[in-house]
Amino acid sequence: MNNIDSTIEKVLKKAPQYTRFKRHALSLLSHSTPKKLVNLLAIELQRKIHRTKVVGYPYFLIIDPNNICNLRCPLCPSGFKETEMKREFVRIEDFKKIIDRLYPYAYEVALHNWGEPFLNPDIFEMIRYCKKKNIGTNLSTNLNISSLDTDEIIRSGLEYMVVSMDGTTQNVYSKYRVGGKIDLVFNNMVDLINKRKELKSKSPFIEWQYVVMKHNIHQIDDAKRMAKEIGVDTIRFIPVGLPIDAVNKDELAMEWFPYITSDSKENYIKDRFLQSPLRVDVFIFTDLLL
Ligand code: SF4
Repeated sequence: MNNIDSTIEKVLKKAPQYTRFKRHALSLLSHSTPKKLVNLLAIELQRKIHRTKVVGYPYFLIIDPNNICNLRCPLCPSGFKETEMKREFVRIEDFKKIIDRLYPYAYEVALHNWGEPFLNPDIFEMIRYCKKKNIGTNLSTNLNISSLDTDEIIRSGLEYMVVSMDGTTQNVYSKYRVGGKIDLVFNNMVDLINKRKELKSKSPFIEWQYVVMKHNIHQIDDAKRMAKEIGVDTIRFIPVGLPIDAVNKDELAMEWFPYITSDSKENYIKDRFLQSPLRVDVFIFTDLLL
């Protein structure tokens, strides 16, 4: 087994990668009320007995602040701009309406899905509003943001931030994060960590997320070293996913999946990296519920 084989072996052992039990447990401890707890238990009980009609309220929300992005990642519908959905920002009034309805039951809101959340001019007001209503917040960002307001990120009360940076050099990083500048992302991450220290704040928890693909798998060890040096809270390696409705999945897999050329490794990677659509669905579903 060569070095890369052994690295990938170690990374894959951590699968499943989509679950975040610790974070959800923390959210449960920090934002519980008797009403939320009763609702959560009722829903979980109904899930266990496989009820198809569930009585209760959502306790984990995903509210995408915008489906607009500043990058063009080739496997993302927002990136390759083929979705027919209208591109727009959620208005703060609408956001507050949703929160006002669900805050008695909600533990956490994920403020991301199909775009770059920091492009929404009201993002900090959204985070502050959730905090005021005792709901935790997390978001995932590409951090390609000039003049990032690190002070505001920390003071807003954001609890958890995922930063996507898949590579350690510009040419490797921008093969997938098309239009992205790795120096900008990296410096923003460092500035945020320093500002957090300066303000003596524990939040946001910063997770460097690295999507492992054929062209960047050799930089995993460098990324781990850099993560340690700058002091991110965790670095997480996750599998690359294909668009659910892509018609040329095999072609895309050949281009992006690590080690796709060997038959035995192909099966291994498909299994351990949860690449089959069915298994990915299962894990996304699990993540939402836990
Ligand atoms: S940064 Fe995220 S939302 Fe933007 S194009 Fe890439 S994957 Fe899509």
